[in-house]
Amino acid sequence: MKLVNREQIEKLSKFKSENFLTTSFYLDTNKSKVTKKVITLSLKNLINEGKSKLEKMEISRKNKESLSEDLDKISVFSSQNLTTQNPAGLAIFSCQGEDFWQVFHLPNPPRNRVIFDQNPYVRPLSAALGEHRQICALTLDRKKAKWYEIFMGEISSLESMLGDVPSKVKEGGWEGYNSKRIERHIATHLHDYLKKAAKKTFELFKKNSFDWLFLGCKEEYFSVFEPLLHPYLKTRLKGRLKAKPGDPPDRILKESLELEKTLKKEEEEEIVNHLISELEKGGLATSGLKQTVRSLNRGEVQTLIVTRSFSKPGRICPKCNFLFVDEPRCLFCQKRTEVLVDIVDEAVEAAMDKNCQVKHITGPSPLRRYGNIGAFLRYKA
Ligand SMILES: [Zn+2]
Repeated sequence: MKLVNREQIEKLSKFKSENFLTTSFYLDTNKSKVTKKVITLSLKNLINEGKSKLEKMEISRKNKESLSEDLDKISVFSSQNLTTQNPAGLAIFSCQGEDFWQVFHLPNPPRNRVIFDQNPYVRPLSAALGEHRQICALTLDRKKAKWYEIFMGEISSLESMLGDVPSKVKEGGWEGYNSKRIERHIATHLHDYLKKAAKKTFELFKKNSFDWLFLGCKEEYFSVFEPLLHPYLKTRLKGRLKAKPGDPPDRILKESLELEKTLKKEEEEEIVNHLISELEKGGLATSGLKQTVRSLNRGEVQTLIVTRSFSKPGRICPKCNFLFVDEPRCLFCQKRTEVLVDIVDEAVEAAMDKNCQVKHITGPSPLRRYGNIGAFLRYKA
């Protein structure tokens, strides 16, 4: 199924078996970036990684069998899926001992991983949801207003309303009226209609609580409509569309997604600039892998900011889970540290575990000059 809302994740996270562990599996299947061959190879590696992890686990034979069946089923399903489907990512949750199986198609590529745990590992799903904005797109002219909801790259119709605003003066059609009165008559109709549309938008907002409002209408309607919007909506009105009520949803979706992308880019630029200015003035911020990881270990991080594709090997203390760039022994408990394939990935997980916000920045950005990673801090020790 497609990942569309938080309820799906909540429901999934409630699954738990008394006797068996659950396998959670994430695969980057973004064919626009890598070839099918590369994806097939990372699928194979991931399954093998799971199998060798499984061998070392001290759990009951039945539990092991269930996990091993999970891996087999996931392997077959994923390779079939690669030829038929084309989502950017795949998330699979399986517990064969309980006959539990759930597949999600993701709009963005996740980091590859396989995890055995008591519960489904849903954090990457929440992160994927958190990266998208809930958008309401409204198109209107004097005859019709149409509302759409756009989320995770999907569009659905919310509501529509018919207008009865008279058009321009027809010759001989307005006998007995002078042109001033006619103009006023039209303006009143238009005002009433747009007022109704503004009210309806607010009702939809209360019901669906969208983050952004996009508006497709002519300038002459906009100048009347915008002041009629509730203050909550004025702050959410983030952009104008060229789309009109008669346009097919596909077209409205396409234009809205382009606008979403532009706005997100602006948001990212803003956050990187804010980080840099905090860094320059020696405020509550840090940057670079070593410093950021140290702040994470100490629980100082409030928001972690990282370039999307950035990854580096590192080390982790198996006892206290502290992360290190290159320490052979844990600085806190002296235990020998273990090698990590990707410390950035672990840092993101650690941040989410500690309820920090994580912001992914799509490169290229000035964050590169600061080591591709940084953080806003709660405090500085
Ligand atoms: Zn330690």
